[in-house]
Amino acid sequence: MDLVDHHCHSVVRDDLDRAAFEELLTESDRPDGRAFESPVGSAVRRWCAPVLDLPKHAPAAEYLARRMELGTAEVTRRLLRSSGLSELLVDTGFAADRLLDLPELSATGDAPVREVIRLEALAESITGDFPAEFRAALARQRPVAWKSIAAYRYGLDLDPRRPDDSEVAAAWVPGRRIEDPVILRFLLWSAADTGLPIQVHCGFGDPDETLHRADPAVLQPFLHEIGTPVVLLHCYPYHRQAAYLAHVYPHVYFDTGLAVNYLGASAKTVLAEAMELAPYHKLLYSSDAFGLPEFYFLGATLFRRALRQILDSWVAGEDISAPDAARIADQIGAGNARALYGLSAD
Ligand SMILES: [Zn+2]
Repeated sequence: MDLVDHHCHSVVRDDLDRAAFEELLTESDRPDGRAFESPVGSAVRRWCAPVLDLPKHAPAAEYLARRMELGTAEVTRRLLRSSGLSELLVDTGFAADRLLDLPELSATGDAPVREVIRLEALAESITGDFPAEFRAALARQRPVAWKSIAAYRYGLDLDPRRPDDSEVAAAWVPGRRIEDPVILRFLLWSAADTGLPIQVHCGFGDPDETLHRADPAVLQPFLHEIGTPVVLLHCYPYHRQAAYLAHVYPHVYFDTGLAVNYLGASAKTVLAEAMELAPYHKLLYSSDAFGLPEFYFLGATLFRRALRQILDSWVAGEDISAPDAARIADQIGAGNARALYGLSAD
């Protein structure tokens, strides 16, 4: 199945000991040394172990020892190439110094890579006159999409009104992490003015966010005002809310992102729930892989498998025809991302 990973991050360059690996295998900021005792840990042992020449379900200690033996460069090469991805859209706005740069990622994975630029990171690089310099910086960039982490910095329950420049200038404090809702709204409106799609982190993530304020449903007033495409990322456990928003607003898209990886054996459940209401042309694939190449491979494997199982069951129940199932799989796997971001199929 043709798959475009429309939201992911690069992978770490260094070899990882058990603690460092486990830190990347959880969204918790309080690692307890038991990250493998979870659906994602089981999924790594089930699906990634054979790519490293180990039997399915190899114990975590053997998996990590084999990883060290092969070295990070070879592990990354194997897992990325086994993912069979047609294209990667990579968010470069977080921890870039630890990760492969985009040409390295593209060469290692043997797949084309395009950049998604994080609005908050771009704004935090501005040292002079705000908002004028931010607008100029935005105009200089050529990303395939923008990304907002307003959910981490304030919440998605933003006043939808476009702030004027005097409000923005009054709220701006140079050199500080952006958490002010006036600035966050300004970034979203400025991104919308470019016409490019805006990816918005929703739902599942690390405890830097307050979960209930990352529900995409609380972003509805903003979605109601804005006209450019907005892509709600991850969304779990609010993927049904996201499906509703994608149903009612022509410019709203969504994915189940990182949730598919973390749900492991239950990936099919979350995808099936997302597909209860979502129009076929509104759901996309992403892994939200960060740091570990395992997430690229797991995301692609679990998603392909879940989508096939769901569509097969629809065909078996005569809810849709086999040709319709093939067309829907093409749309969700790659076609929707290509249409939305203007990617070519070759
Ligand atoms: Zn991400």
